[in-house]
Parts: sequence; structure tokens; C-alpha cells
Amino acid sequence: MKSELLLVLVLSLCVSSKPLSKRRTYNKLLLISFDGFRWDYDQDVNTPNLDELVKEGVKAKYINPPAITMTSPSHFTTITGRWIEDHGVVHNLMFNDKTGLRVPHKATLKRSEWWDNGALPLWITAQNQGLKTASFLYPGGGVNYSGQAVDRFLVEDHGQPDDETEWRQNIDTVMGWFTKEDFDFVTLYYGEPDNVGHTFGPETPERIKIIEQIDRTIGYLREAIHKNGLTDHLNVILSSDHGMTTVKMASEVNEIKLSNYMSLFNLARFDLLDYGGFGMITPREGKGQEVYDSLKNAHPNLTVYKQEEIPEHFHIRKHERIQPIVLLADLGFNINSRVILHINKGDHGFSNEEMDMKMIFRAFGPDFRDNFLAEPFDSVSIYPLMCKLLGVVPEANNGSLSDTKDMLVDNFDAGGSSGRIKVSLSLLLLMIIILTLI
Ligand SMILES: [Zn+2]
Repeated sequence: MKSELLLVLVLSLCVSSKPLSKRRTYNKLLLISFDGFRWDYDQDVNTPNLDELVKEGVKAKYINPPAITMTSPSHFTTITGRWIEDHGVVHNLMFNDKTGLRVPHKATLKRSEWWDNGALPLWITAQNQGLKTASFLYPGGGVNYSGQAVDRFLVEDHGQPDDETEWRQNIDTVMGWFTKEDFDFVTLYYGEPDNVGHTFGPETPERIKIIEQIDRTIGYLREAIHKNGLTDHLNVILSSDHGMTTVKMASEVNEIKLSNYMSLFNLARFDLLDYGGFGMITPREGKGQEVYDSLKNAHPNLTVYKQEEIPEHFHIRKHERIQPIVLLADLGFNINSRVILHINKGDHGFSNEEMDMKMIFRAFGPDFRDNFLAEPFDSVSIYPLMCKLLGVVPEANNGSLSDTKDMLVDNFDAGGSSGRIKVSLSLLLLMIIILTLI
């Protein structure tokens, strides 16, 4: 009789550890982006914390950014699951080829008209389904979508301190959002190692130093997750937006300077040049063919497309913001307009098929497997993975869950997270021990 009573008691405890609400309880999710973290940046640096994550989580060999390997276009693909031609954020600059308007990158971060083109980012979709979301400096998080703002957002600004202490404080702030304010989904952005990659180049001691700093920050994050009691309740995805390559310079190579081949003043009405390996030109009326012919075979390391010729697999052609002439340079060759300025020693914007443009992907937390090495996939597939982790019904998107579903623990679809299952199993074990003793 006594043992039967105990059995009932323990079984009821097992049952009560499951969520009571009709909607299954999902774990929280933190998406972290380290801008410009190339897929192999951890391979020549001592990174004990990232190494630990390989054992205790998921690592993809690398992931593919969308075809315009720039910060805003790529981050917006991650958060919407849409190709660039579908979300319309085609450049880091906001521009208008008719008025000549150019808004610098940081200023675009507050301009809804640049981002809000009909593709809803996950923050808004999740909020509309009852979740609480926040963006800590993540590109696109500081504007309105169909009039809706992200519940909590901070926008990158000039003059923010960007040292290791600040990085740790940012983690503390985000932990507070999860624990004290019960946020479900937070995106956290860091501007490194992109800045160092541009300033010094990727193959330098400075880049190694910043990766060590990032690794210490990841160690701090893991401690913070533990201290805040979030180990069994928070999934973390760590990724980036593009890689980085060394800029090729004279006298080693013949650098690209478009004014050597055409008069930009006479033939172009508008251009977006001098931003790494990707450029666009809007010809003056009736001058399209002349621009194309002037550049088509001008330089062996420059590829020129008419908009309609852009290969479909780039997924950029359809959008009206793509200008009539699109230029793509070979890896390391910057597209200069009139003057060659050596401001950057490293750059991106090159084809997403180049290994130097590939980026990092790591994930850990209660719903991710341990020690799982995933094959490479397109970053557009991070979106459906995030929706699944949060229990959010996704918007139409270009990603595929089949790219990432094997990363998840076996029982993910069974309705309980591994954290909760572990509790139930330990109670079951306790029951067996008690029953054996009596
Ligand atoms: Zn970037």
C-alpha cells in the first residue's frame, strides 16, 4: 500500500513537470552575431571556450552567406529567412538612384523605409504570436515594420565604447532581459572581428588577438548563462554575416579602377562603388549598353552583369533596388571608381562561393545535440530553425529545416525539451530507488 502511494506521488510529480498550458513551453533563444567572423578564424588561435562548445553543442563546418556579402543584407537574410531579392536590403547604404540620396550605414539603422519592404523579421512575427523579443544592436532591430517596433531595442551608434568590459556588460544586460523581464528571443550583435579585419587584414596578429577576446567573451557568456540559471532553458546560436579576405594591392596585382575604362561622369547617373568587391551602376538614359561594353572585358578580375544576366542562384536579380549594371570582383580585388584609396587592408562583398566569405555557425543549449558536426548550409536556413526552437509559425521563407533538423535532440518534437525530460527522468530514477528500498 505504502509503495503504491509512493508510486502515485512520484508519477504525479513526473506529470506535473510537464507544461500545463496547451501551447508547449519552449526554451528561450539568443542569437549572437560576431560581424565578419570567417568560418576558419578559430583554427589558428587558442580558443578554449569555442573548443568546449564543439563538445557541448553543434558546429557547422561553415555556412554560406547570401550573395551580397555585406553586413545589412546578410543580417536581414538571417532574421527574415528571405533571399536578398525578397527582402530588399541590397546594400549597407540606403540609397535612391533617382534623387542621388545616400545614407551611411549607421544612419540607416534608424530608417524604417530602408528595411520595411514586406518581409517581416522574426522579432515581429514572434511578438505577433505572443512572445517577447529584443534586439541588442542587431542590424534591422531598431526600425518599424508595418508600424510595429521590436519590444526592446538598442541601436548601434557612434561613440559607443567597444571594449571587452563593455562586451561583458552587454551580456549581463541580455541575461537580465531573459531572467528579470522574461524575454523569449534576443538578438545580440558585436561589430568585431569585422573592424579589425578591415583595419589590419585577416591574416594578422591583431585578428588573432580579437578572436582571443571573442573567445573569452564566449566563456563569460557561458558562465553568465549558468549563474542566471538558464543552462536548461536557453538555446544559443552563434553566427556571423560574411567572412573577410586580404585586399590585393599594387604592385602585386593590377588593381581595378573603373575610370580607366569609362567616363563615370558622362555615362553614369548614379553609382555604388568603392565598397569592396560588389558595385552597382545606374547608366544615364540610353547609355546602358555603352557602360556594359566599356566594362565587360575591361579587367580580368572584374565580372560585369546586366541586371537580367545575374545568375539566378545569387537570388538578388529580382529586386527593383538592384541597379541595371552589377559588378563583382574576384576575391581580394576592390572595385574602385576614380581613385584607389587603401583604407581597408581586409574586405568582403565578394562572391558567397569564395571560402573566405563563408562564416561561422555554432549552437548550444537544451535543444541542441552535443558534439554534433553539421554539413555546410545556407544562412537563410537559420530562420526556420529559430522558428522551430521558439515554437513560432514561420512566415513564408527561403530556408529549409532539413538543413538543421539533425542538430536537435531526438525528443525535440515529442513535446518536451531535454531540460524538462531530464527532470522527469531523474524523478523516475528516484521512484525506482525508493521502490527498491521498501
Ligand atoms: Zn558585416
